[in-house]
Amino acid sequence: MTLNNRDSTDEIGQEMYQIIGDLYPICRSITGNGLRATLNLLRQHIPLETHEIPTGTAVFDWTIPKEWNIRDAYIRNSLGQKVIDFQKSNLHVVNYSVPVKAKMSLAELKKHLFTLPDHPEWVPYRTTYYNESWGFCLSHKDLLQLEDGEYEVLIDSSLEPGNLSYGEYYVQGSTADEVLISCHACHPSLCNDNLSGVALATVLAKHLGQLSLRYSYRFIFIPGTIGSITWLWRNQNQIAKIKHGLVLVDLGDAGKFTYKKSRRGDAEIDRAVVNVLKHSGSDYEVREFDPYGHDERQYCSPGINLPVGCFSRSPHGEFAEYHTSADNLDFVRPAYLADSFSRSLSVLQLLDNNRRYVNLNPMCEPQLGKRGLYRMMGGTQDGGIEELPLLWVLNLSDGEHSLLDISDRSGLRFDALKRAADTLLQHGLLKVLEGS
Ligand SMILES: [Zn+2]
Repeated sequence: MTLNNRDSTDEIGQEMYQIIGDLYPICRSITGNGLRATLNLLRQHIPLETHEIPTGTAVFDWTIPKEWNIRDAYIRNSLGQKVIDFQKSNLHVVNYSVPVKAKMSLAELKKHLFTLPDHPEWVPYRTTYYNESWGFCLSHKDLLQLEDGEYEVLIDSSLEPGNLSYGEYYVQGSTADEVLISCHACHPSLCNDNLSGVALATVLAKHLGQLSLRYSYRFIFIPGTIGSITWLWRNQNQIAKIKHGLVLVDLGDAGKFTYKKSRRGDAEIDRAVVNVLKHSGSDYEVREFDPYGHDERQYCSPGINLPVGCFSRSPHGEFAEYHTSADNLDFVRPAYLADSFSRSLSVLQLLDNNRRYVNLNPMCEPQLGKRGLYRMMGGTQDGGIEELPLLWVLNLSDGEHSLLDISDRSGLRFDALKRAADTLLQHGLLKVLEGS
């Protein structure tokens, strides 16, 4: 389970950026045809299974809402000119707006208009999922251009009983223990939040689908909040299988990596991400869990309490472009996406390989020289085995310490310790602890 080739990583960055570009124009929401079209498009990459849950279904304390679909929306001035046009950007309509066909004064219309005075060129992203209402979003610059007079308002949408859709892809490993990868796929034309997470989950799923793995991996593409609540409600008797999990969001921008720990705080996933970031050679930040954020709020609610953390670059609300039209195709770059892929894959690789071993020759050190392992390791450049990882693995392989424990204690890279453990296994000096 490796991918270290520079060219392959560049290609992955391009592939992720292409997925984001393909998904960008679609008007997504927490339900409806935009979400379905998104899942359909992802099916070109991975064999995603789609689930449809009817409106009105009670999911814990929540209820699946009516399904929202939109065909067109605009505002025309008294000259008949379109001053706001949904066809130019789906952010122009407040997501989940009820249908409207009316004429009104500018003063009346302004009650339904939203802008960002601090960023006069940008269009905000607004939603009204659980409150039947309507509105338009526009740049503050365009708002200032609107003259007094009568305006014609049209929102050709529907809000009716239907379904909530989500996608799921399960990669079978050699054990039933699972790693959960979750991303929200409900935002319209916004790239970092969260087409970057969708693209990363897709390429990770594609990559893992080709490997032989210890864990089974479950990828879910869901609408934010209501989607994770629905998924957890439907899978209550399965969630004990989830041993580790990540929410992927905001992974295409230039910011440093940010990891928000699970509610448990000391779960293996928390330690794995911190270990990978510590050895990544670039700046990063680790934060303790808090009950604000993305779907980790549901996975880490007290009755669920799964070991699921949130992996990001710049976290939500901490970059100016967040939830605005400026979170566009220029804001995310293939190189940052590729870097996010490499880090995430390293985390999954670490989890998959994090075993405990037993030293079969624990009475003093084994004589490495007679096995060709001492001072014959050669240059590490050509994949040779370093001495120090061999000694650390031998010393701490008492069945109590995992390779991650050894990495944390020695300060050595996990992959160097894994290579050492493989070599010692080959030479009969080590065995894997059953069930570890
Ligand atoms: Zn968001």
